[in-house]
Amino acid sequence: MDNKLEEFIESAKKLGSQEAKYIDPATIKTGAWVIMKCRYGCGRYNTRLCCPPHTPTFKETQEVIDCYKTALLIHCKSWDMVTPLVAKLEKEIFLSGYYKVFGLGCGPCKSCRPCNMVKCIKPDEVRPSMEACGIDVYETARKNGFSIDVVKDMNSEQNCYGLLLIE
Ligand code: SF4
Repeated sequence: MDNKLEEFIESAKKLGSQEAKYIDPATIKTGAWVIMKCRYGCGRYNTRLCCPPHTPTFKETQEVIDCYKTALLIHCKSWDMVTPLVAKLEKEIFLSGYYKVFGLGCGPCKSCRPCNMVKCIKPDEVRPSMEACGIDVYETARKNGFSIDVVKDMNSEQNCYGLLLIE
């Protein structure tokens, strides 16, 4: 593996991730059903520019994934640390020459309240979540050897994920 790519694993750890692993983009699972959880299961639907229905469909996301040769899957123990970490790492990877890099975070944007819903005012800090773009995070994490279970209450262990598409 390219030395630079190895360095990004260390950078992810320094930024607070538990683990980061390069994966084959073909193992990233998208599905039509994912957005239904946002539309009918989340009170924040249509309240952020980074949430559905403002995000790509699962088909558009799959087309984007198909543009990449590798991806870095990031594991964190708290959902709200994932997106800021991914945004910082995306910048580092881009500046090192991987001009196509694009990051996907976890959960709804919480950078400003309320979201102005017209134009994002913090584009450096914010990326849509994997699930908001139709990625089945459970299957993608499990296929790549990470653990993830349904969180049953506030005391349940959190295993949260972000993704960087890299080339
Ligand atoms: S950073 Fe602010 S404006 Fe941008 S999506 Fe998040 S809440 Fe909306």
